[in-house]
Amino acid sequence: SVNRGKVVIIGTSNVGSAVLNKIADFQLASEIALIDLDMDRARGEALDTSHAMSSPYCTNIKIHPGTYEDCRDAAFIVITAGPSILPGETPDRLKLASTNSKIMRSIFSEIVKYTKDAMVIMITNPLDVATYVVSTEFDYPRAKILGTGTMLETYRFRYILAEHYAMDPKNIHGYVLGEHGNDAFVAWSTVNCAGLGIDHLDEYFHFEKKLNRHDVEQGLIQAAYDVINLKGFTNTGIAMVACRFIKAILYNEHTILPCAAVMNGEYGMKDVALSIPRMIAQDGIVRSFEVRLADEEMEKLRRAQKSVRAALDGAGVK
Ligand code: NAD
Repeated sequence: SVNRGKVVIIGTSNVGSAVLNKIADFQLASEIALIDLDMDRARGEALDTSHAMSSPYCTNIKIHPGTYEDCRDAAFIVITAGPSILPGETPDRLKLASTNSKIMRSIFSEIVKYTKDAMVIMITNPLDVATYVVSTEFDYPRAKILGTGTMLETYRFRYILAEHYAMDPKNIHGYVLGEHGNDAFVAWSTVNCAGLGIDHLDEYFHFEKKLNRHDVEQGLIQAAYDVINLKGFTNTGIAMVACRFIKAILYNEHTILPCAAVMNGEYGMKDVALSIPRMIAQDGIVRSFEVRLADEEMEKLRRAQKSVRAALDGAGVK
């Protein structure tokens, strides 16, 4: 049976270690098993975080290097294995499609030997490709495979807009949808700031220059590459995103967040995974919403579909 407090993290480098430490700090688990091809790294991360367990800020979480057997009773499996794009490289996650599809297959063929019950949180890039591969090539419940997708872009969007108006980003509601990557787009029709309509925001703030929506969208896509070029990798933002989803599932929140899954006929799409608003509860993705999009937003969603499909084709994925 499933141990509600058990998390397995696969891939324990920049991203996996950040996820580990946020889960520990937020007290979202009682046991965390770490798996990496490089088991020394997993052992090192397990020890380092375990050394903090006598702090009054920590619950006593059992953190240990693991094997795929640990998936048997895990409530969550977080997949962060496989390379990232590196500083100075072509800024497009899709070029990792072939390499990381293979890694996803090798990992998932181990996971399915032990469980079909755990919620799988996908982080590895290209996120939509990775999510599609594991969802379609393995007999695993689709509702239990959740790609973090454009939740991260949504956080970046809220930050950029909030900085522009010098306000709390939590005042901003609105979603970035589509591809986790260069074809992410803002569904402007969904954006609202504390009840102040996005169209009137410049007026309320007495801004003479109208918000340049194109710049905002470019900014939220560029954000990842800026972080990678500045510090070498991204890990903190995505770790927060992973925890957001884990909490929504653990507490059966029925919260609506943008995330990636294989499209099930929404907008007539089936051959890719993409992010749209989805309701998250203890059983995983319990509902997906075909939110009404403006014509130009619809065009951007189609562009996202095309580029993700092309990457899947390039990696030989049906
Ligand atoms: P990294 O290259 O530093 O680490 C990858 C780790 O995966 C290494 O420790 C490696 O040993 C391990 N690994 C490789 N193949 C494995 C296998 N078959 N089984 C187990 N472990 C294996 O990369 P990183 O910076 O930690 O990033 C990890 C992934 O997360 C990348 O694909 C990156 O693009 C992605 N990422 C996604 C988001 C997002 O929003 N979805 C954000 C940041 C990073």
